Amino acid sequence: MTESCPERRAEIRRKLKVLVVKVGSNILTGAEGGLSSRAFSRISRQIRELREEGVRVVLVSSGAIAAGRERIGLGRKPLSLAQKQAAASAGQTALMGQWEKAFRRHGISVAQILLTPADIVDRERFTNLERTVETLLSLGMLPIVNENDAVATFEIRFGDNDRLSAYVAGLVRAQCLLLLSDVAYLYTSDPRLDPSARPIPCISRIDSRIERMAGLSRSGLGTGGMSSKVGTALWANGWGLPVGVLKGDLSGGIVRFFDGLTGTLFDTSRPLPSNRKIWIGHFSRPRGDLHLDAGAATAIRTGRTSLLGAGVTQTTGEFIAGETVFLRDPSGDEVARGIVRKGAREISPKGEGLLVHRNDLVLSEMSHRE
Ligand code: GLU
Repeated sequence: MTESCPERRAEIRRKLKVLVVKVGSNILTGAEGGLSSRAFSRISRQIRELREEGVRVVLVSSGAIAAGRERIGLGRKPLSLAQKQAAASAGQTALMGQWEKAFRRHGISVAQILLTPADIVDRERFTNLERTVETLLSLGMLPIVNENDAVATFEIRFGDNDRLSAYVAGLVRAQCLLLLSDVAYLYTSDPRLDPSARPIPCISRIDSRIERMAGLSRSGLGTGGMSSKVGTALWANGWGLPVGVLKGDLSGGIVRFFDGLTGTLFDTSRPLPSNRKIWIGHFSRPRGDLHLDAGAATAIRTGRTSLLGAGVTQTTGEFIAGETVFLRDPSGDEVARGIVRKGAREISPKGEGLLVHRNDLVLSEMSHRE
């Protein structure tokens, strides 16, 4: 087995103030498909231990659809979108009921948050949500997040909770995200098909080779699978968030992960920016473009200047003041993303005044595309 980078894991643990733990459907369900209370107690015990060490934890839990299938009597057969949504609404209360019961034993109160992508992309909702989660954490509650499956339509879904958990980790500016699933590691190939498959415990740079390997090892019940985990890790590493993938059905698995004994760490050496910068560079949806002249593009790339109207030759798109836009150099390459202070209609080429303040700018080498 290759090096599991134990020093780096120990360092992450030492600096850990906020941790997001994502639990996949597969590990919350038993052999018959219903929720398994053993899994809930195993995970709640580990979270209690982390909280006792002063770590604030936010849990992202899948399992609503899996629980709902049972309640509605839909078994394991393929479901239509409407059936999935109905199953999720029926199952969400069962899921929270299990978490509530498991955490009550440890004297921990839980709070439910259901999200759709619109709640993250919209700046006002995002800051509202941030305040709510912060308040819950400071009251000692354990926020438990899931996608609001009943209202999320196919086009506007997070898709899977791996992605959702990274959004949540950005929101709370977590120092680490752990994805608990039924896969212990990223392997060099699918271990179920290839006996020579080797686990890769530490990845400090995700390249196309790693992405290819991830495509080879998929898991069953959830919508995630390893390729979704690697995709999420690649994206989250882009703003400085280390991501761990580990098996969720191990007692003490989280401690073992930080001790370097299990799981794959997708590491990054980028410093963690403010969650406002994470939102601008990674979560917001740019509504248009400001095309800069060469001088302005070079100045912006230093990361030290604001963008003035004089540096803009043209705009594209219909955006209004307060929305995010791309800043592009004369060859059309993305230089940065930023919150613009004027709408497209108010900007004239080589005009006057401040367009994007440097505090509202995120350089694009920091902002990985989704
Ligand atoms: N939100 C879905 C549920 O709770 C799970 C999505 C996923 O598989 O990650 O059932």
